[in-house]
Amino acid sequence: MKHYKIASIPADGIGPEVIAAGLQALEALERRDGGFSLDVTAFDWGSERYRRTGALMPEDGKEQLKGFDAIFFGAVGAPDVPDHVTLWGLRLPICQGFDQYANVRPTRILPGIESPLAGVGPGDLDWVVVRENSEGEYSGHGGRAHRGFPEEVGTEVAIFTRAGVTRIMRYAFTLAQARPRKFLTVVTKSNAQRHGMVMWDEIAAEVALEFPDVTWDKMLVDAMTVRMVKQPRSLDTIVATNLHADILSDLAGALAGSLGIAPTANIDPERRFPSMFEPIHGSAFDITGKGIANPVATFWTASQMLEHLGEPAAAARLMQAVEAVCESGIKTPDIGGNATTREVTDAVCEAIRASN
Ligand code: ATP
Ligand code: MG
Repeated sequence: MKHYKIASIPADGIGPEVIAAGLQALEALERRDGGFSLDVTAFDWGSERYRRTGALMPEDGKEQLKGFDAIFFGAVGAPDVPDHVTLWGLRLPICQGFDQYANVRPTRILPGIESPLAGVGPGDLDWVVVRENSEGEYSGHGGRAHRGFPEEVGTEVAIFTRAGVTRIMRYAFTLAQARPRKFLTVVTKSNAQRHGMVMWDEIAAEVALEFPDVTWDKMLVDAMTVRMVKQPRSLDTIVATNLHADILSDLAGALAGSLGIAPTANIDPERRFPSMFEPIHGSAFDITGKGIANPVATFWTASQMLEHLGEPAAAARLMQAVEAVCESGIKTPDIGGNATTREVTDAVCEAIRASN
């Protein structure tokens, strides 16, 4: 029997609702599988802690998380706390502190879920967006001079390093190689941005030589948005910078039906530290407490977590259960159903128990 130590950080808004649903599904899988057990420790970090103490997480937060095999994260953000405070106060310190440099966002149209793209159904759109998660446009470098004066200047410096670009490129090529189509699209904006972006293109071509069995092409990010909408079948694995992939993966999530089903994994491929698994959506205060948050994104990222822990059979079982439940029409309102979080979760757990 394998044991895994999981840190759960439900945090804000619908975070606690979807994390509770995710843990319930994980427990059902544990019982069904019998080959592994999860030891879950909950952390009460988030905006409530910020109001109480002035910090979203304790100073030694990273130390506290170090010994875990994975982090299961809900959502952070509250109407009364500025967005950059919540982002830089919890998620980013974990991502950067643990050098989770690969952000992996699978996108697929699940059965029973409608894409806003006419005539596009399950099988027509099956992508993985790999986002560089440690540098680039979100490096935090820059500043403001002459604050408040008419001559004020604000700079936001994107930093790309050869080491950083090479490692994300290797990760993306490796992932593309493991998928049936072995096809990677490298996204940049190297026509208008002529330094770091041109370096991206050059490093892509160099790393490609290490993967002769992977076919790849290059796209400018603006043209890429058009291709995603017009020719979804022409894409498979996609790699882009921190900013570009942030935007493209939101588009991908919307094309697959709803923010409520889109998962993400923040991975340290070298496994020096715990990786972090979370739904893409935020705290969604408009529906908090109503019991209608869609738990599918959280189930999906729980499946990513099981995959990363080395439990691919349980990971697949979970996604099969989710797909069966979506197909049967038990869905939350955001994807056109009228079921509650609890009803969807119970149905998924039942499908796990009944699976062979
Ligand atoms: P944050 O500021 O933390 O990003 P937010 O309030 O902007 O949170 P998002 O999570 O980014 O909310 O999502 C935008 C909207 O999409 C929500 O207000 C909500 O209506 C809807 N939504 C997001 N996630 C879900 C979900 N899991 N289930 C149902 N609806 C969702
Ligand atoms: Mg938001």
